[in-house]
Order: sequence, then C-alpha cells, then structure tokens
Amino acid sequence: MLLTISTTVQPATDLGFLLHKHPDRCQSFDLSFGKAHVFYPEISAERASAALLLDVDPVGMVRGKSRDQSFLLDHYVNDRPYVASSFLSVAIAQVFRSAMSGRCKERQELAETAIPLSARIDVLPVRGGADFVERIFAPLGYQIQLTRHPLDERFPEWGESPYFSVTISGICRLGELLSHLYVLIPVFDNNKHYFVGDDELEKLLEHGAGWLGTHPEKELISRRYLNHKSSLYREALARLADDDRSDESEADSLPLESLLEQDEQTVPLNDQRLGTVLATLKGSGARSVLDLGCGEGKLLRELIADRQFERIVGMDVSVRALEIAQRRLKLDRAAERQADRVTLIHGSLMYRDERLANFDAAAIVEVIEHLDPPRLSAFERVVFECARPRTIVLTTPNQEYNVKWETLPAGSFRHSDHRFEWTRQEFQQWGERVASQHGYTVRFVPVGPVDERLGSPTQMGVFHRD
Ligand code: SAH
Repeated sequence: MLLTISTTVQPATDLGFLLHKHPDRCQSFDLSFGKAHVFYPEISAERASAALLLDVDPVGMVRGKSRDQSFLLDHYVNDRPYVASSFLSVAIAQVFRSAMSGRCKERQELAETAIPLSARIDVLPVRGGADFVERIFAPLGYQIQLTRHPLDERFPEWGESPYFSVTISGICRLGELLSHLYVLIPVFDNNKHYFVGDDELEKLLEHGAGWLGTHPEKELISRRYLNHKSSLYREALARLADDDRSDESEADSLPLESLLEQDEQTVPLNDQRLGTVLATLKGSGARSVLDLGCGEGKLLRELIADRQFERIVGMDVSVRALEIAQRRLKLDRAAERQADRVTLIHGSLMYRDERLANFDAAAIVEVIEHLDPPRLSAFERVVFECARPRTIVLTTPNQEYNVKWETLPAGSFRHSDHRFEWTRQEFQQWGERVASQHGYTVRFVPVGPVDERLGSPTQMGVFHRD
C-alpha cells in the first residue's frame, strides 16, 4: 500500500521540512497493525516526492485482538495488506501528524500557503466506480487521473477489478491535502478496520473542518466514514450544518440585525422578541403550545424551561433546522424528552395537518415573511381554520424601520430569504381581515425600541378567540 505526495513548489526540497521527514533517510515507524516507511523516490529543487509505504501484517492482526473469534480464512486471505484503507489513514495521522495539523517548525509560512501538490494512491479500492472518485475529489478542486486495474491481467475476460490507481493534483496547503486523504480514503473502501465510536465522530469533524460542511457529498462521506452508524452520522450532519449555518449567517443575515442590536446597546432584538412572545403565551394561560416554523428551537428552549407548558410541539419544514433543534434541546435523551412533553414534527404550514389541532396556543415567530404571498391564503386556512388554537402570537419585521439600518441598502429586506416585509399598516390590515374572517379578535404590539415615526423593528399580532 503506497501513497506518494509530490510538489513542484520552489525549492521542492522544502517538502522535507513540511513533512518533518529528512529527504536523505528512509525512516520506519511501528504501528499496531504493521510498519510504515517514509522515503523520497525523487528529490530536487524542481520536484520532490515523498512515499509512505505501509507494510500491514495480516497474520499479526488476526493473532492480536480478534484471536478469540471463530477461524475464518477471510482473516488471512484478503486485500487488506495491499489496498489503501483506514489503515492508511491511521498511518497518515501518526506519521504526518504535525504536517496534517498545519504546523512546521522550519517553514511555518509555507505550511500556511497553498502550493502545487499531488497525491498518488496506488490501489484504492473504490466501491462505486470511477464516477464516484470524481464526485468525491472534484468538489475540493482537484484534477483527477485514474487507472482502473483488471481483476487479473492474465485473464482479461474476468473483467475489471474495483481497484484503481488515483492521482489527485491541485493547489492547496499540505495540511488540507492530508486531511482530505485522511477522511476520504476510508470512504472509498467503505470498510473500517476498527470499532467506530464517538471519538471517530470528533475526528471526522476536526479533520473535515472548513471543507466537509460544504461538500455536496457530505452525507455519503459522513455515513461511510462513520461505518453507517446512523446515530453518529446524524449527529455529524447536524453539527456540520451548524458550522455551515454560522458561516452563512455571518455572510448575509447577521450584519443586518446584529448591527441594529449593537446600535441600540440594549437587550438584543432577538431576545426581546422571544421574551415578549413567551410572556404573551404565558399570560394567555396556555398549557399546550405549538411553535410553527420553530427553526433551531430558540423559543422551544424557553417553553421547555417553564412548567406551565405541559405539551410543546415544534414544527418546521426544514429537516436540517429540526436536526439542530433536536440536538440543541438534547431531545434524544430520555430525561429531556420528559415523557413526550416536547415533540418536533416535520411539516409545512401550506398544508392542513391534523397534528396541529387541539392546542391552546400557537407561536409563529418571524415565519410568514418566508412564505410566498400568493400562498398566504393557504397558510391562513391551515392556522386559523384547521389548527384553530385559542391564542395565536405572530411576529414579522416592520419594513418601515429598515431605514434605521445604515448598512441595509434602501428597498432591501433584512434577510435574503424574505419574500416580503410589511409596513405597520399592511400588517394590521392583513391581521384584521384574517381575524374577522375566522372569528378572532386581534391586537398589535410593538417589539423592540419604538421610533416615534417608524414604529418598532418587529411587529407582533396577538389573535384570540373565545
Ligand atoms: N421561529 C424561529 C425561526 C424563524 S426563521 C425563530 O424565531 O428563530 C423561519 C423558519 O420558518 C425557518 O426555520 C423555516 O424553515 C420555516 N419555514 C419556512 N417556510 C415554512 C413552511 N411552509 N412551513 C413550516 N415552516 C416554514
């Protein structure tokens, strides 16, 4: 099993510093399953290559941990010593530990610089064919060269084997390349040699940081890396989504609301809104509550903390948001689930849903502006006609207030996913019509600092029926 890493950075001899392995020596390392050797098949100022050769001891492996398992020929006669698998990942992590973490005593700047690099993996077992190699490496910006090996050269009629020689080339940091290989090599093989537990999840997130969250195949990669353990990969995906989302919100939505919050130097608007909604729900005397469009569960957390609320259901159309909510609220632990006091359900406010019937109150916080205006009438029927709780607390941005944000270009919305933002008059006209059509009364409450002329940043309608 051979991995060769090459560079044409000038001078290429610096590869020795980057890998912390002297180019003039062949070095060997003892690993639990055999030996690793590092040497340089070529080294010059123009081009250098370092090879990591793994010598896996299949008999020693079987005699070790799995000795008491029943004898299987498969233990001795298999492809493990010859192919790139999770053994190679373990070897990379041990032999190139500093390089993978981006540290370099002598050439730190170079370790932090994207340089021309390539990695050749001799004998990569690919469950999924040549396309699969493309799908995994191309989104990371690599050029890919593949050679597929026949099952047996002497018997071409036997056809192709699942074994490839793969070279990936690109401009990146050495630490990135090693992290990509560390995570992805076992993904092709889809067969880990050791027990996969929580620490593997942490390793996946650590070495996948900065790239896995945005990889189009992140689901498949996480699933295979974690040996198809569904509890682990679900958590991995939720945490990756989380990282991803925090990047996104920094990129677009945050500057708007958070800047306002900084200007005000008071309780952040988000917290004021939650506090007002919670107080209104409490004041209504509700014991069962719906949080419709609950997102990542900020309001749910407050509701759970208050014993007045005996039955709490959060619904959202986004599975990703629900996964994050589930994790944040620790609903997978029985104690937190509190005998089904809290339930998350996947659903859309566009469709009648019997699960929403028989609740005292519903909160719909910063959701309607995400709905297409022509579909608002469907939403009205689902909430006011079908679910029909006695109290409905609904908030939405007040568009008039947007001019207070210097950073928000005139005429734009606060979030790229908003389909509309209403003035106070538009919201009140809508609320009054819906209330009278469905037998509710409505009052309007400003949330956040009130500007005499423009009103408050958030507007809230409280609907009630007897
Ligand atoms: N109420 C939360 C989230 C607001 S963001 C909070 O205040 O933090 C808007 C949420 O509405 C998102 O989570 C989005 O997934 C959800 N949403 C959008 N359209 C929806 C629909 N048709 N049905 C249910 N939820 C929807």
